[in-house]
Amino acid sequence: MSIDLEFDRHHLWHPYTSLSTPLPVYPVQRADGCVLTLEDGRTLIDGTSSWWAAIHGYNHPKLNAAVTGQVAQMSHVMFGGITHQPAIELGKQLLAVLPKGLDRLFYADSGSIAVEVALKMALQYQLATGHGHKTRILSLRKAYHGDTFAAMAVCDPVDGMHQLFQGQLTPQLFAPAPRVAFDGDPCSAEFNEDIQQLEQLFAEHHLTIAAFIIEPVLQGAGGMRLYHSAYLSEFRRLCDQYQVLLIADEIATGFGRTGTAFACQHAGITPDIMCLGKALSGGYITLAATVCRSQVAEGISQGEVAALMHGPTYMANPLACAVACASVELFRQGDWQVQVRTIEAQLRTRLLPLAAEPGVRGCRVLGAVGVVELEHTIDVAKAQRLMVDKGVWIRPFGNLLYLMPPYIISEQQLATLCDVLCWIVKQDITSQAQVLPGA
Ligand code: PMP
Repeated sequence: MSIDLEFDRHHLWHPYTSLSTPLPVYPVQRADGCVLTLEDGRTLIDGTSSWWAAIHGYNHPKLNAAVTGQVAQMSHVMFGGITHQPAIELGKQLLAVLPKGLDRLFYADSGSIAVEVALKMALQYQLATGHGHKTRILSLRKAYHGDTFAAMAVCDPVDGMHQLFQGQLTPQLFAPAPRVAFDGDPCSAEFNEDIQQLEQLFAEHHLTIAAFIIEPVLQGAGGMRLYHSAYLSEFRRLCDQYQVLLIADEIATGFGRTGTAFACQHAGITPDIMCLGKALSGGYITLAATVCRSQVAEGISQGEVAALMHGPTYMANPLACAVACASVELFRQGDWQVQVRTIEAQLRTRLLPLAAEPGVRGCRVLGAVGVVELEHTIDVAKAQRLMVDKGVWIRPFGNLLYLMPPYIISEQQLATLCDVLCWIVKQDITSQAQVLPGA
C-alpha cells in the first residue's frame, strides 16, 4: 500500500510545522544501517541519527531481537506496585556506564519529561531539606531543554518560545551563554567575565535558586554552540558553594556523542541530577530517564510528602527498557570510542575548511557532531529537496547545517554527507522565513 501523503498533509502535524502550509515531507519506507529508503526506492544516507537517537544505526539485529523477544513475553505492564526484569536490567546497565554517584533512576517517557522530573526532583529536594525558599531555576541563555511548559521556561528566553507563551511560563533566571568555544582559551578575559557574571548571579540570588540546569559542552537546539569544558568545573564549584543542585541535561550529548560517554566527563564533574533520552533506546522507541545522587533521593524522602510526585502510565515500559538494555549493552562494548574518534577526524578534515567560504560564519566539530553556521537563515524545504536529490538526509534549522550521523557510518558514507554539505553551502538556499527549532 502506498503512503497516503494527501492524508498526511491534511491531518498530521509534523514537528514545528503549520497544518495549513506544511513543509514537504518525504515518505520513508524503511531504514537500515545508515540508509533511509524512500517509497520510490531512492536511498538517503542519514546524517541525523533521527535527532541524535539512532547511534547504532537502523534495523540493528541485536536491537530488533530485544524488541521481538520482549514483545512475545510482555509489551507493557504498569510500574505502580509491579516491577520487571527489563527495568532492573536497564538500571544495572546504566549504573555501569554512568558517572559514579549517579545511582537512583526514574524512567520517563521523553526528554522533555525527563527535564520536568529533574526540575521536580530539585524543587522537592529543596523543600524537603528545609530550603523551601529555593524555588527558582537558573539556566543559560541559548539553552534548549524541551517543549513542555517547565522545560520551555528554562529555554533561551529570546530565541525560545517565551514570547509566544507570555504569562504562561514561570519566570526563571538566566546567565549569559558561555562565550569561550570548546577549543578556546579558558584563561581569556572573556572566560573570566562570563564566570564573574555567573558568580554575581549566584551571590545575589542563591537563596532563591533550587537548581542550575545546563547542557554540558554543547548547547544543541539553541544554536549548536560548543563551549569550553572549563565552564563545567566552575558550574560545579558555584553550585557546591551555594547549595544549588546541578542538573546536566545529557539528552543530546549522552552516550558518546561528544567523544566522552557523557559530556560532563570532559571536565570530570558529576552533576547531582542527569537527564538522559534520545540514544538511550538506540533510536527505537521513546524512553528517557532522570538519574540522581543518593543524597537527592534521600533528601526528597525526608519531606512531608516523601514520594517523588511523578508516575506516568507507560513508566518503565518493558519494550522500551528491553531495547534500551540492548542499546546500552552495545554501547558498553566500546566500539563507539573508535567510531566517534574516526568520525571526528573526518568531519574536521572535511568541514573546518568551509569556514573560509563566503556566507559561512563558522564551523565547529566535536566528537560525532559537525556544524556549519551560515550568515543567513536557510530555506529548509529548498535545501532538503536539493540534498535529497543528492542522496543524503540532512535537516537544517535556522542558519545551521549539521551532521550527527550514526556511529556505525562508513568512511565512504560520511564522505558523501560531507561532499553534499560542502556543495549545499555554495547554493542559494537563503530564506526570509521565521526560524523554528529543529533538533
Ligand atoms: N533536552 C535537550 C538537550 C534536547 O536536545 C532535547 C530534544 N531536542 C530535549 C531536552 C527534549 O527531548 P524530547 O524531544 O525527547 O522531549
